[in-house]
Amino acid sequence: MRSDPFDRPLDAMLERLRVHGITYGRPGTEIDRWVTSCAVCGQPMMLHEPYLGSPVTVRCSAGCHESRVVRALAAEPHRYDEGLDLAEDASAAAWRALDLLEQACR
Ligand SMILES: [Zn+2]
Repeated sequence: MRSDPFDRPLDAMLERLRVHGITYGRPGTEIDRWVTSCAVCGQPMMLHEPYLGSPVTVRCSAGCHESRVVRALAAEPHRYDEGLDLAEDASAAAWRALDLLEQACR
């Protein structure tokens, strides 16, 4: 068992879900289970923490293998990179527009 009650694989898993913008919740009154969406296929997925601080079992309802789901969650969110690229493109376009404006005013 881990000594720090907050240093739990479940918390790390939920943090990765938040990083990816995936929502999660509790099904009914079961305190050892969480429902969320699969990071690979988007279908409903169940997280199960058999006991406090234990490794988390991942079960995608569409059958994605646990290792694929964990890998997808461990990766940096794709949208974040896309957003950065888009921002850079917009910035470059703005600079080009300023250049053109300067040339036109000469
Ligand atoms: Zn899946």
